[in-house]
Amino acid sequence: MNALRQHCIDRACAEPLDVLVVGGGINGAVSAAALAARGAKVALVDQGDFASCTSQSSSNLAWGGIKYMETFEFGLVRELCRSRNRLMEAYPRQVQEIRFFTSIAKGFRKPRWMVFLGALLYWLIGACRTRPPRLLSRAAIRREAPMVRSDVLAGGIEYSDCLLPENDARFVFGFVRRALDRGGMAINYCELAAAERRDGLWHCALRDRAGGGSLSIRARCIVNAAGPLADALNAKLGIASPYRHLLSKGVHIVVPRIGPASRVLAFFASDGRLFFMIPMGNRTSIGTTDTRVDDAAAGPTEEDIGFLLDNANALLALDNPLALTDVVAVRCGVRPLVVRRDRAVEDADWMALSRRHVIDRHPAEAACAIYGGKLTDCLNVGDEVAGAIRSFGVALREPDGPWYGEEPAGEEPEEPPLIGACTRTRLRRMAEGEMVVHLEDFLRRRTLLALVLDHDALRTHPGLPEAARILFGERAEEELRRYFARDAEPWAGHPPLDKDGSMC
Ligand SMILES: Cc1cc2nc3c(=O)[nH]c(=O)nc-3n(C[C@H](O)[C@H](O)[C@H](O)COP(=O)(O)OP(=O)(O)OC[C@H]3O[C@@H](n4cnc5c(N)ncnc54)[C@H](O)[C@@H]3O)c2cc1C
Repeated sequence: MNALRQHCIDRACAEPLDVLVVGGGINGAVSAAALAARGAKVALVDQGDFASCTSQSSSNLAWGGIKYMETFEFGLVRELCRSRNRLMEAYPRQVQEIRFFTSIAKGFRKPRWMVFLGALLYWLIGACRTRPPRLLSRAAIRREAPMVRSDVLAGGIEYSDCLLPENDARFVFGFVRRALDRGGMAINYCELAAAERRDGLWHCALRDRAGGGSLSIRARCIVNAAGPLADALNAKLGIASPYRHLLSKGVHIVVPRIGPASRVLAFFASDGRLFFMIPMGNRTSIGTTDTRVDDAAAGPTEEDIGFLLDNANALLALDNPLALTDVVAVRCGVRPLVVRRDRAVEDADWMALSRRHVIDRHPAEAACAIYGGKLTDCLNVGDEVAGAIRSFGVALREPDGPWYGEEPAGEEPEEPPLIGACTRTRLRRMAEGEMVVHLEDFLRRRTLLALVLDHDALRTHPGLPEAARILFGERAEEELRRYFARDAEPWAGHPPLDKDGSMC
């Protein structure tokens, strides 16, 4: 099995930790990085791969939440813009400004000048860190975006926000790597099965879903970063929270590239919500839907995919309308939205529910849970979780420098890539330092390959067998068989991929 993973298991089980972080999505990864940089003895565990749940299915945007301007949540917009700006500065390669070319249909609920004023105010609230917005006439849209159906439009606007071009899951792994580099431990495919607080320590029983068997870890404090499964994890921990999650499913489809890679096409869908066509490698990701669900593992339905295809075809002037056969992959995630348990929200406006996060502290149990949130706000989550852990009595020092930020892209020797952009040297580094346990981890989360190549193209890729040998050694054949044994649906790139239920 993976040597780095085994090393982390041995260390985490050896003696009591300061903190066990359960859940390796963005919120858990950022918490582990923030704590490790402050000198805590911290381990991060995830029952699947890191970022294998909601954090691999976002829209890949770091954005100030322009849509919350309509519900007058200016405080939330200011905070999110500040978070976006902080990410832009710290991650110049991984969080890049991109233009949103937004069409406004005739008869839209607001005149286009009002939408433009909203975008102008959004830019000002965002401290003018991006290029200013622009009002677009119908003629300008026809000229600059001929693939958009301009006959149904009153005009449009253009404004800026940020894109994660390497993808959300890769971004999350950066925080896992940071935690490891600063002495933390991280173990994927490791599920917290039960925990009990005794004599000032959490005694945790974990299931090793990669190596088999069970592990025991003791920790002074616990961080519940289980995302949509946070309520279920609190129940396991015996913690009663005044908060709970409501779940909203969002689906994106990945199709051949529509328009240039330098901008997002934004529309208002038939139900009035913002709807994006977002560049992803040499493809375009279209979404998203927003459907209330009760199941954290809810998958995409034909209705979801039909909704996205129908809206895209209604808004675009394509020679050949998009069809199901154009769908290379589907990304489906469940967004955890925080509400107070005592608040009746059943009749509330679903789309207007706040996207804020809450760090719910339980000092008597030395536990905290992260409710709600967005990728964009991750640095605040890291700082706030470190504050909570300090308040439980763990001595944390100030980090010696910024605890986050882009690592310089190392010098790559001149070498042709073997698969995607991965050279043999890069793959060897990945095998050593990125805890790739299954082929899926490499294809779907450390790279974009499973999202931009369809199943058949991957199956017949000449570089894949050698890449698998570099990553898995003698397990390569087994990993290839396991991966391609999955149903070859047109959207096979979608999780919860394993029918064995290993995902959230
Ligand atoms: C469709 C969609 C689009 C979005 N777009 C954006 C966007 O563009 N920008 C933005 O800022 N935000 C966006 N968001 C929001 C953002 O993706 C989420 O807020 C964020 O990913 C949640 O991260 P998390 O770490 O809380 O949860 P998750 O990523 O779900 O991580 C929780 C982890 O906990 C693990 N876990 C659960 N129980 C256990 C256990 N018992 N033992 C071990 N591990 C366990 C799970 O396996 C999982 O990996 C979007 C969300 C959706 C659904």
